[in-house]
Amino acid sequence: MALYGAPIWCDALTTRNKTLLRRPQRVIAVRAIRGYRTVSWTAATLLANDPPWELQAEVLAEVYRFRSSLRARGQVPSADQTAPIRAQAQRALIQWWKEDLESPAAGLATVDAIRPHLRRWVRRRHGVLTFRLTQVLTGHGCFGKYLHQIARREATPACHECGAPIDTARHTLEECAAWGPQRHALVAVTDRRRPLVVERDPLHARQREVLVGCDLLLRRGHGFEGGCGAGA
Ligand SMILES: [Zn+2]
Repeated sequence: MALYGAPIWCDALTTRNKTLLRRPQRVIAVRAIRGYRTVSWTAATLLANDPPWELQAEVLAEVYRFRSSLRARGQVPSADQTAPIRAQAQRALIQWWKEDLESPAAGLATVDAIRPHLRRWVRRRHGVLTFRLTQVLTGHGCFGKYLHQIARREATPACHECGAPIDTARHTLEECAAWGPQRHALVAVTDRRRPLVVERDPLHARQREVLVGCDLLLRRGHGFEGGCGAGA
């Protein structure tokens, strides 16, 4: 609905209009990934696999222009003629999106995890993000650093379990002594020394197992349901 008439208005988009367009997209994307309301537009749209609307508008405009040019010559554009134009525009969109993500203003950890694999991420047709996995990938969740610096609900970013000075998703999954037994079980299942692979390819089959393991660890360890309260 938001992209209705996109071929008409996309060329006239100003920086201000793009900013306005991003507000509703962020709200929708945050809901889709079941993330906290504080998750940035960059991270939310990336995890939701919802490219910036202004770029999606460009794809629609490209197809529209092609079809219009055929009609102007008295031809009726067929689906077979349009498909390669749409595919080409989609490839360009991914490249533009990747370039946009070169220096993100927010969502750095999420971008670092996914940007190198953006093309495959966009094309994937499997897997879902759970509430807890979204917390791991965004860092916005029941972690001391988030609760202190962003949610401002904790006096310090320290870990309640082991007293480490900064509690992050990485700390919970890789370091915190309190979750040693769960971590060992996870590593045994995944045959990996380090369970947290956010900085690596999040799509590899093995790593999907790891992410599922992370989900289990958080479910058992932190009892996240309702404890910190989702922003969505
Ligand atoms: Zn700890």
